[in-house]
Amino acid sequence: MCSAGGPIDVDFNDPLKGKGKKYRCNECGQTFTGLGRHPMCPSCQSEDVTEI
Ligand SMILES: [Zn+2]
Repeated sequence: MCSAGGPIDVDFNDPLKGKGKKYRCNECGQTFTGLGRHPMCPSCQSEDVTEI
């Protein structure tokens, strides 16, 4: 039996990969890529965000 050959998840096509972490705003639900230790929501300027 040859069961090899499943889908390979490679994210090289994601331009945001490696240029910051993704966050979700706890205030408005906006998802964005933030840089630095204190990313701020681009939509509502809240710093209450969660890394995703
Ligand atoms: Zn927000």
